[in-house]
Amino acid sequence: MSNVVGNQELTARWQNALMNNYGTPRLPIVRGEGTKLWDADGKEYLDFVGGIAVNALGHAHPVVVEAVSRQIASLGHVSNLFVAEPPVALAERLLQLFGRDGKVYFCNSGAEANEGAFKIGRLTGRTHMVATEGGFHGRTMGALALTGQPGKREPFLPLPGDVTHVPYGDAQALAAAVTDETALVIIEPVQGENGAVVPPAGYLKAARAITASTGALLVLDEVQTGVGRTGHWFEYQAHEGVLPDVVTLAKGLGGGLPLGATVAFGRAAELLQPGHHGTTFGGNPVACAAGLAVLDTIENEGLLQNVKRQSEKLRDGIEGLGHELIDFVRGAGLLLGIVLTEPLAPQVQQAAQDAGLLVNAPAPDVVRLMPPLNIGDDEVDAFLRALPGVLDAGAADGDGRSGE
Ligand code: PMP
Repeated sequence: MSNVVGNQELTARWQNALMNNYGTPRLPIVRGEGTKLWDADGKEYLDFVGGIAVNALGHAHPVVVEAVSRQIASLGHVSNLFVAEPPVALAERLLQLFGRDGKVYFCNSGAEANEGAFKIGRLTGRTHMVATEGGFHGRTMGALALTGQPGKREPFLPLPGDVTHVPYGDAQALAAAVTDETALVIIEPVQGENGAVVPPAGYLKAARAITASTGALLVLDEVQTGVGRTGHWFEYQAHEGVLPDVVTLAKGLGGGLPLGATVAFGRAAELLQPGHHGTTFGGNPVACAAGLAVLDTIENEGLLQNVKRQSEKLRDGIEGLGHELIDFVRGAGLLLGIVLTEPLAPQVQQAAQDAGLLVNAPAPDVVRLMPPLNIGDDEVDAFLRALPGVLDAGAADGDGRSGE
């Protein structure tokens, strides 16, 4: 039952009934349309968080609404004893976008997609894994074992597996850590939760060469970068000579519905055998219908091009402000980090919210932007107009919050 009367009441009810796993208080949101969100008091926001890269088409996109409505009215779910058409069609479509033969395992989240990759790694018969410092792969125990953020790991040690974390972007460190016993190397093509960190040119290619020479699988976590976010269907496709063994997807793929995928190629696609893995909702027809609607819309509306265009416009516009709090802008496509000259990102986030603009602060000195892929000139202009005032106000008190 939804019985919202305002921000205060919804926040109080949230505090009573839900576990506080991210920090308090959170902004109560009751409605979304396109790039706009409304809180329970009726205040309007321009959404540059986009569900942390989930809302690829913004909120309530008519094509997604139509696809989901149609699917749930005809077949909402069947058990894994049966096969429905939407997961088959979505897997075929994904493989077509990858341009390679492979196999897809559907699940419900990014963490789960990485659990699938973890199991595929273990099925090689090797146990050692290499991941990156600052990397984020999810909160379930296997995904957390791969995550390179100590504060998130510590309460849960010992974590499964035998994982070595190496500095991100350092090919020499990677080469030194990978041995003939290494099952897999997992890398985000751009580190999202760490603040839109882009590795040096040639890093992914080096990772491919290193893993190929020792027989380790190269797993690319494209949960945040995939499905058009960076202006390519998958970010690795922007890097010459990089063909991963496994790619994990989630977030934007479901257009707002819970949908993850572990996509494997070559020998990695043959390792998972009957009895090894599974989940009730994996391949749910409604989630997969949403996924197909997202992919179709990205293609039909030329959104990869739009991402590149609006990304440039944002980067140039932000750096062109010459504001003293802005150091530089990094990231790829519409996964951007404004690196500040001072650790005031939580304050900037709060000031932005007060001004009706939603951004996110994944690090003390990084303001992250992940607007919908179909964002237009007007919204980018509105953002750029508001930003100087928001940065000025950012020095004022405010408590930041993070999210995934
Ligand atoms: N991998 C990456 C790169 C992510 O950014 C995230 C979420 N921020 C995850 C995995 C985990 O996804 P989920 O929250 O859907 O489990």
